[in-house]
Amino acid sequence: MVFMRFRPQVIFSSLCSPKPRTSSPSATLAAAAARRRHTTSVATSMAAPSEDALRRALAERQAAVDAQGEAVRALKAGGGASKAEVDAAVEALKALKVEAGAAARRLQQSVGAGPGGAAREEMRQAVVNTLERKLFYIPSFKIYRGVAGLYDYGPPGCRVKANVLSFWRQVTPAFRLEHFVLEENMLEVDCPCVTPEVVLKASGHVEKFTDLMVKDEKTGTCYRADHLLKDFCKEKLEKDLTLPQQKADEFKRILAILDDLSAEELGAKIKEYGIVAPDTKNPLSDPYPFNLMFQTSIGPTGLSVGYMRPETAQGIFVNFKDLYYYNGQKLPFAAAQIGQAFRNEISPRQGLLRVREFTLAEIEHFVDPEDKSHPKFVDVADLEFLMFPRELQLSGDSAKSMKLGDAVSKGTVNNETLGYFIGRVYLFLTCLGIDKARLRFRQHLPNEMAHYAADCWDAEIECSYGWIECVGIADRSAYDLKAHSEKSGVPLVAHEKFSKPKEKLVIVPSKKDLGLAFKGNQKMVVEALEAMSEKEALEMKAALESKGETTFKVCTLGKDVVITKKMVSISMEKKMEHQRVFTPSVIEPSFGIGRIIYCLFEHSFYTRPSKSEEEQLNVFRFPPLVAPIKCTVFPLVKNQEFDDAAKLIAKALTTAAISHIIDTTAISIGRRYARTDEIGVPFAVTVDSTTSVTIRERDSKEQIRVGIDEVASVVKQLTEGQSTWADVSAKYPAHVGPQGDQE
Ligand code: AMP
Repeated sequence: MVFMRFRPQVIFSSLCSPKPRTSSPSATLAAAAARRRHTTSVATSMAAPSEDALRRALAERQAAVDAQGEAVRALKAGGGASKAEVDAAVEALKALKVEAGAAARRLQQSVGAGPGGAAREEMRQAVVNTLERKLFYIPSFKIYRGVAGLYDYGPPGCRVKANVLSFWRQVTPAFRLEHFVLEENMLEVDCPCVTPEVVLKASGHVEKFTDLMVKDEKTGTCYRADHLLKDFCKEKLEKDLTLPQQKADEFKRILAILDDLSAEELGAKIKEYGIVAPDTKNPLSDPYPFNLMFQTSIGPTGLSVGYMRPETAQGIFVNFKDLYYYNGQKLPFAAAQIGQAFRNEISPRQGLLRVREFTLAEIEHFVDPEDKSHPKFVDVADLEFLMFPRELQLSGDSAKSMKLGDAVSKGTVNNETLGYFIGRVYLFLTCLGIDKARLRFRQHLPNEMAHYAADCWDAEIECSYGWIECVGIADRSAYDLKAHSEKSGVPLVAHEKFSKPKEKLVIVPSKKDLGLAFKGNQKMVVEALEAMSEKEALEMKAALESKGETTFKVCTLGKDVVITKKMVSISMEKKMEHQRVFTPSVIEPSFGIGRIIYCLFEHSFYTRPSKSEEEQLNVFRFPPLVAPIKCTVFPLVKNQEFDDAAKLIAKALTTAAISHIIDTTAISIGRRYARTDEIGVPFAVTVDSTTSVTIRERDSKEQIRVGIDEVASVVKQLTEGQSTWADVSAKYPAHVGPQGDQE
């Protein structure tokens, strides 16, 4: 369940988001409903808010058909009606049936079960077939029938992945596209995948990183309980077009609250709807939690329990103290890690999108909770892209194009640093080739956000499986460092040295009065009061002195409470302080590399007819930055001179560090172009003379003629972004020759 997938929630004092949050049960429900509408359907447009209206329209037309059918029967049975009257009634019935059919189709399209769905399925099959045939990826251990949720990257897949990671890590100077590690001077670490239990106990994963599972009572096959209920409700909504409105509302409500259902509630719904094991139709067990971590033991005794890490972030948190010293005890700074993460998914689905081992690239940007400004925010403030704040989700609207600067200044995005990373993620994904129109940043709704988090946004990419979370960007406040400080006893804190000593602010909550007022919630109120920033505390002090009471947001309770004067004393102590000691907040962009790559595959794929129009040829329009191979070299015909020229060009390309292949197979040049288009090679060099050659651009299929000794430098400029195809086309003569004839 989603709740479990976000880091486990253990109660700690944490700074509240200054932003008001909606948290009444009905608001939460509505929020979740809106979220579901936008995240579980195949596309936003498919889950347009008019679905209810379409359903009502269909029900009305169906009722009209039934009534007219009844009228026709009555006319026929009564015997008194003329033939003309009966014919007219039959015609009217036919017209009503046509209308009802059209209404059914509209509804079908709206809920995603219509022709659009089939086209998406077909497109996905074409992409997946090409990817598997060309060894971009391979189901792992295939000769032993494979293992669900485990995939290998084959040769072109490995290159694409390496290119994506290399771009993530550093500057690609020629592109002037600085990305994360180098641009931000991040401190990269590389920690073990095997992690001792104590670390994951502190983070809460041992206790809470679970999904609810049910078993086929006869075969023992396991299923995710929420997936079965979700599939049941979605199928009813999509396929049963005569579903009464009341039932449709009920299923939608369930989809909305799915993530919040307890094991008992899920079990009760599964029983009520008679949901059985999909493969065998056998009855199912009651749901029970299953921890997604792979457990192992460290060393031969079996006494030291360990787990394969479910994320890379914990390795950074536990190293905070050393990294902070390494950074000269200065904030802000960021640490980064790329590595494998392991999650023993109960029933992995959706191909490469939900797997059991995957590469994560995570950044932990540590920042003073009292100053979350970012000096480079101005660089991204003018970016404009699709954002989906919670207000739009709650009102059933779609994502809207917004200027990032406005989103931060209006408080839609909690702070500049979070905004800065949202902007950088946008640039990163679009430079890789993700389609801007199918990328949106969706804000978490209150019920899906961990209580300690100040604000969270997901970069979601639309693909044939729907809108998929590919990068999570969260302001996790001080939660993680506090959890590890508490468990390890090592303070993971930062210091701010004052230029002049300052008076100390002392906040003393009155536990007795707070206990009387808030009973079981007293601890959370106390912690929230103690965690107030100086500014917040001084504002509260002023309010208490003038009005005697004030409202106070307790994030961990998810609501405002009223604090009276006797519940807390806030004073400036006479003792001077020379430094402030605090736990830094962390802003965490977390990139699921496999998901990004899969979406990139879908967004880059297209087909075009062959010259003879007899077949459709597959093409990946990867930008040179991502392309697994930048250039192919083809001798036009088999002869020694052309082979020698091709070798010379290949040598120059190697010297220029351009990945390439020579294809000397004795098939037509058109076929060879098609073969290279299919793995997304952007440029092809055809050797048709010993002095000059042609360079062909993959998508336009245009060719230019270039002298042999210039080829490598032209291809280098093109692949590294110093020149565009338009630039070189203007400089070199176009070639209109026979080479592409058979394409
Ligand atoms: P989380 O820690 O659950 O927010 O996950 C961080 C990122 O990891 C997500 O944004 C996804 O891109 C990716 N991710 C999570 N679970 C999986 C999975 N089972 N398979 C592939 N990628 C995943």
